[in-house]
Amino acid sequence: MYHDSWTIITHPDDRLRGKAEDVLVQEITTPEFQAFADTFGAFMIESDGVGLAAPQIGLKKRIIAVLEKDKINVYANPEILKASQALQESEEGCLSVPKTWGLVDRPKRLRIRAINRHGRSVEFDVSGFTATVFDHEIDHLNGVLFIDKAKKIKKK
Ligand SMILES: [Zn+2]
Repeated sequence: MYHDSWTIITHPDDRLRGKAEDVLVQEITTPEFQAFADTFGAFMIESDGVGLAAPQIGLKKRIIAVLEKDKINVYANPEILKASQALQESEEGCLSVPKTWGLVDRPKRLRIRAINRHGRSVEFDVSGFTATVFDHEIDHLNGVLFIDKAKKIKKK
């Protein structure tokens, strides 16, 4: 899989709407996946994203990249174990929905379980902006876009 052939798929497109498939743990430790993870993270940064989900490049796999404290982390099969009842509202955009912004309510805190890029199962808590990014990216794996949840959509 070559980065040169990647483009960000934009709404409306059926490839953004399906449910993505789990990645096998034994797949993650292969050199191919490791190269993919590096390229995927770099592609997110080049695209000016703080998060990216594999369906956004047309890959139907449960893989996300998230920029956390200036570090690019790639996770497979991320799940939300627990979400706070308390919500926070923020203005969101999405590389797959260009020139569009909207206010979305999402949990303030999430407990996440995922497989990290070394093939290990990890559990951790995220809050604030990072929680919003995880929630947004995990939505992509289920075919959900922020415009489905946003109130007050603005186009620029
Ligand atoms: Zn998005």
